[in-house]
Amino acid sequence: MKKVRVRFAPSPTGYLHVGGARTAFYNYLFAHRHEGQFILRVEDTDEERSTEEALRLQLKDLQWLGLKWDEGPHPETLEPMGEFGPYRQSQRKHIYQRQAQRLLESGQAYYCFLTDAEIEGQKEAAKALGRPHQVQSPWRDRPLAEALKLIEEGRSATVRFKVPEQRTEFKFKDLVRGEITFPSDMVGDFVLIRSSGMPVYNFCCVVDDALMEITHVLRAEEHLSNTLRQIMIYQALGFELPEFGHLSIILGEDRQKMSKRHGATSCNEFREQGYLPEALKNFIALLGWSSPSGQEILSQDQMIEEFSLDRVHSAPAVFDQQKLKWMNATYLRALPDEDLWARLAPFFQTEALALPEDKGWQSRALGVFKTSMETLADAVPLFRPLSQAGFAISDEGKDVLAWDTSRSVVEEWKAAVEATGPGFLSEEEFVRIQDAVKEKAQVKGKQLFMPIRVAVIGQPSGAELKVLVPLLDKQILITRANQALQLC
Ligand code: GLU
Repeated sequence: MKKVRVRFAPSPTGYLHVGGARTAFYNYLFAHRHEGQFILRVEDTDEERSTEEALRLQLKDLQWLGLKWDEGPHPETLEPMGEFGPYRQSQRKHIYQRQAQRLLESGQAYYCFLTDAEIEGQKEAAKALGRPHQVQSPWRDRPLAEALKLIEEGRSATVRFKVPEQRTEFKFKDLVRGEITFPSDMVGDFVLIRSSGMPVYNFCCVVDDALMEITHVLRAEEHLSNTLRQIMIYQALGFELPEFGHLSIILGEDRQKMSKRHGATSCNEFREQGYLPEALKNFIALLGWSSPSGQEILSQDQMIEEFSLDRVHSAPAVFDQQKLKWMNATYLRALPDEDLWARLAPFFQTEALALPEDKGWQSRALGVFKTSMETLADAVPLFRPLSQAGFAISDEGKDVLAWDTSRSVVEEWKAAVEATGPGFLSEEEFVRIQDAVKEKAQVKGKQLFMPIRVAVIGQPSGAELKVLVPLLDKQILITRANQALQLC
């Protein structure tokens, strides 16, 4: 078998969508499964919509997912890496021109001088007759020399592909969808190069896939209908056809095409919401593929080992947010504490939480909170009461401190904490102190717990004190008690 070479070919017009991430990941898995090459090609010929900023964001997302490409633009410098570059279509215009020239010279493409108004007129005429519109160009069979003369005179022209006149059937075996047949008269002569000199997607795609020696084209289902035009171009240029596999669309839980309405759709949003790349990858791998073992939690190595296109389904995949959450929680809770902490750090930083650097403390705190976290972002509200920065007493907290009995409760609480020496209280010590405060201040129930709670976390509700208190240095407990006393 030829060395497998697959590519992911994003258009840098926005963020990397989960659908795109799945296409990228299937290509990556397929490449690694067959010890082949994974190529990143940037389809940026749409000058109005493509931006370098979007390209950089997409590269960042691919890197975040750990989908390292063997060839393509360098992630930082964007310089081509690999012997088939450049990998950005905007830098390959001369290559497309050369291939278009071959088609013009062999009479398989022609310069077309039809104006937009003329094409519009044809469309309307077809509509009036109730027929589907296909361009009928009077330029189709004019000699090339004649067209070149007009161009020299300053007329602008598109380069159109000459769709074979005889009706034939184009058949290919899609690796996901099985045999596909297109009648050739499904399309009329189509544009390869716009009058601006900019080549169109179908043409660039074929030229690049052929010259980059791509063996398998795995891409979204929406490109299935382009495949007919592309096969025609392959044949006209005398290029060998790759194999094609079209991946099903992804639906939201309401079975509508996944969109913003369903929540996050881009990798970047999932990252910001605190999803782990390994969980997201595992999840998207299962959007249309399943492990022969029936297992759901799969390491990347396992997926590489097991990935095959005959287990990729042609039916639409449904994006189940709850399942993603579950999967994320499973991955998150299995992380070693130090790794988990490193991933949480940027979330804490964004929210300006100041937490102890001591690894023992971090492990203890994670031990307490990990089971309440499904995403990294979930840690922020859980850890906020433990932050040394930004402690403030809420209005509800102030109301509690204004009760008649609150002052003596907080005073007794502070004195008892001070009496124990430096460090942290254990859960048992806390319970003992709480009982002692009850005795001394002669209050119980709400009147006892609430003022202590406000003196500890600034508000009357939240996680259990016996969990929180042992995670706060006594020095902090005392400082906070002093702040509370000022409001009693
Ligand atoms: N640039 C196309 C897209 O982003 C990919 C086309 C292809 O893979 O052939 O949808």
